[in-house]
Amino acid sequence: MQQHTDQYIDGAWRPSLAEARIEVLNPATEELVATVPAGGAADVDAAVAAARAAARSWGRTTREERLVPLGRLCDGLAARRQEIAETVVAELGSPIRFATAVQATLPLTVARSYLDILAKYEFEEQVANSTVYAEPAGVVAAVTPWNYPLHQIVAKVVPALAAGCTVVLKPAEYTPLVARLFAELVHDAGFPPGVFNLVTGVGTEAGAALVEHPDVDLVSFTGSTAVGRAIGAAAGRGVKRVALELGGKSANVVLPGADLARAVKANVANVLANSGQTCTAWTRLLVHRDQYEEAVAIAAEAAATYLPGDPALAATRLGPVASASQRERVRAYITGAVAQGARLVAGGAQAPEGLDRGYYVRATVLADVTAEMTVAQEEVFGPVLSILAYRDEEHALEIANGTDYGLAGGVWAADNETAAAFARRMDTGQVDINGGRFNPAAPFGGYKSSGVGRELGRHGLAEFLQTKSLQF
Ligand code: NAP
Ligand code: MG
Repeated sequence: MQQHTDQYIDGAWRPSLAEARIEVLNPATEELVATVPAGGAADVDAAVAAARAAARSWGRTTREERLVPLGRLCDGLAARRQEIAETVVAELGSPIRFATAVQATLPLTVARSYLDILAKYEFEEQVANSTVYAEPAGVVAAVTPWNYPLHQIVAKVVPALAAGCTVVLKPAEYTPLVARLFAELVHDAGFPPGVFNLVTGVGTEAGAALVEHPDVDLVSFTGSTAVGRAIGAAAGRGVKRVALELGGKSANVVLPGADLARAVKANVANVLANSGQTCTAWTRLLVHRDQYEEAVAIAAEAAATYLPGDPALAATRLGPVASASQRERVRAYITGAVAQGARLVAGGAQAPEGLDRGYYVRATVLADVTAEMTVAQEEVFGPVLSILAYRDEEHALEIANGTDYGLAGGVWAADNETAAAFARRMDTGQVDINGGRFNPAAPFGGYKSSGVGRELGRHGLAEFLQTKSLQF
């Protein structure tokens, strides 16, 4: 068991000023993996002071000067990919294959994409008699969740550093170890002291102190809509820029004429990946009523092949969820859905057989779900798929758009044009057409209560810039 007592502040590991500790548990075994400091306002003050002190000189570096340590950071992410994957298995419970292919690889892809974006970005523009400059936003507070712990760190920190901002990161309390590993990579890459700082701690203390801090210029948050609302309000009071990446209740719409089996199987894989703990997960499958029972049968059969098991084993496709409270929450949604009239066709709320330790939830498919049911409106964040029937295209659109969220989605049709025409009418930030694959350079973010702002790609860099005009 590792016992850490330090925070990464001003270019060095320094003893935390807090006495309290966070216990990191392995979700598959419930064993204690490590303890890290539960930092408070004093650690945050020190980290923000370091970031503020470094902001002016880092903000004035050339892009070439920033590209050098950013390139070394990418090399570090590549070199320690296996260790990153194993860390995410231990603290989150992602199956090792998924952890390697996604949790450890996507951050590398995203970080590398910013080398190219930074090299080409136009920081200066001529508008009639004005020269318009894109300047760094200053000191960035990054607050991240646990479900894709390194990806969410990289998606904020790398573009912020590329833009010339300095950063204080407060990672989720369940997944501080991969955040510490990232701080080691930043250190080894040779960024100047204070440019990146890490404070581990709980949201209500370290997180709240950080987002309220008067010396923070921009808050970039990923997490729940409830916490996002509070952070948006705090940022408003402080007149800080804010970017919020929040929850989702994404719809996957299968239009008549689509390859039904392919669309349904893709949906099952999508919703069960990472035990359903994906903000973009297609948690609502919408199928025409004439094809409904066929779709339900395909989904139930596909889900039954996802047996929960030890995430350290290569054969495992469904690991535990992140915590005991998450497991109880997910099970309560399943029980609640059945009580409201949903039909259980795979999985269920009871513990999987033979797994009496670990935060496991069965791969669950609910049929006969209707649009107003709680499970069709609220984010479950577990391995649970709801299947809804629609009468016609207008009804499908009404259901798809009928939640507070708007993060992602899918549309399947006989051809891409038909699917794209439907997707253009969806109130959501990203839609995959006929199984179009994830693009790490495409702008990512929410409509409606799914958020404010965009991450990834050129749009993700622009979030960390502010504009100055000089008139001649
Ligand atoms: P969360 O409770 O909102 O936490 C997210 C982060 O905010 C954590 O670091 C958390 O610290 C911190 N935090 C909590 N309360 C805070 C406060 N009052 N002030 C400042 N920081 C605070 O969400 P979660 O439980 O970690 O993650 C699950 C949720 O995040 C889901 O709803 C999911 O949809 C959403 N999510 C969205 C995206 C996206 O890109 N849109 C991505 C991933 C997850 P603690 O860890 O100590 O609570
Ligand atoms: Mg939380």
